[in-house]
Amino acid sequence: MPLDPVLDGLRADARALLPETAALRHALHRTPEVGLHLPRTQALVLEALEPLGLEVTTGTALSSVTAVLRGARPGPAVLLRADMDALPVAEESGEPFASEVPGAMHACGHDLHVAGLVAAARLLAARRDELAGSVVLMFQPGEEGDHGARLMIEEGVLDAAGERVVAAYGLHVLSAILPTGAVTSRPGTLLAAADTVHVTVHGRGGHGSMPHLAQDPVPVAAEIVLALQAMVTRQFDVFDPVVVTVGRIEAGTTDNVIPADARLEATVRTFSEAVHGVVPERLTRVCEGVAAAHGLSATVDYQRGYPVTSNRPEEVERLARLVAGTFGDRAYVTAAQPLAGSEDFSYVLQQVPGTYLGVGATLADADPRTAPYNHSAHARFEDGALAVGPAVLAALALDRLAEG
Ligand SMILES: [Zn+2]
Repeated sequence: MPLDPVLDGLRADARALLPETAALRHALHRTPEVGLHLPRTQALVLEALEPLGLEVTTGTALSSVTAVLRGARPGPAVLLRADMDALPVAEESGEPFASEVPGAMHACGHDLHVAGLVAAARLLAARRDELAGSVVLMFQPGEEGDHGARLMIEEGVLDAAGERVVAAYGLHVLSAILPTGAVTSRPGTLLAAADTVHVTVHGRGGHGSMPHLAQDPVPVAAEIVLALQAMVTRQFDVFDPVVVTVGRIEAGTTDNVIPADARLEATVRTFSEAVHGVVPERLTRVCEGVAAAHGLSATVDYQRGYPVTSNRPEEVERLARLVAGTFGDRAYVTAAQPLAGSEDFSYVLQQVPGTYLGVGATLADADPRTAPYNHSAHARFEDGALAVGPAVLAALALDRLAEG
């Protein structure tokens, strides 16, 4: 196919920036930080953005960085996002730039996201004259369970350019599954919602030989575990599924004493906001109802995690077109089904149209089917992905802004 000169320029410039981008990634990788407060990571981001002349602000509740790049021409604003946090994992990757912080590792590749968004900022800053509008760069701590994206939304990141952004894009690198350079996404649900439930069954303790004088919570807890599996298959459409896994169950101290209560902990995964919305009520009804059937009671503490990550079909079409135009027709792969992982960029996509995407970062000499996956202490990510992700993000921003 004929090369689009704009896309070809982005591809070539991202490739030329690769040594610099990889060096920043290695610096970030050496000093991983976990959670919402990442002062060293924030300092590296601020230093890298310094020469670009952006409007930079930092967060209050978390060590985020928001930077606004103004184009030479008027137009709307779009948002590009990178998460910044590492995991509490002791690194065993063997990389020469491995973590120097005991017990912390960039095992999910967020170091590539940060360095990649800096590179995208450099690509876009070099094209200010062609930019019709603004680009908000969202550097976000606390993706791994701390709701950092929600906190940044509360601190105004979606309006950082002075008006609400009209589109938002983010990406995740994958150390397995996809070869380096491949880009994947899908219209609609890309990632699951993930909730946590704690159930306590309240009975009355007693002697194991005389259960009729007690109220035994153990068989009730066992029945709840099974009833939840029946709920999943009988109350929900098999094509809009629910996964409930009771990962922890606890009661009692010894064989001949009936305990006073029993506790269950479960994770709940759902793939549409409609189902995500009704699951808490139905699950609570099952737990309370089973307990009541036996004359006991149950309390259910249902904690909502991240929402479903849902992509706008027209933004996925844009992505597929731009990836093919930049890296060739075979670079974009439509994901056949959602992944059961979850992601707090979902909070952004609840409010703004856009898309989330995956970028292959399997080491060149590794097999995508067997390479250690994200979150593994052995996970390794190919620097070459940093020649792809930034060009794609910059292309998305330029293309969306050109639409007005
Ligand atoms: Zn991640």
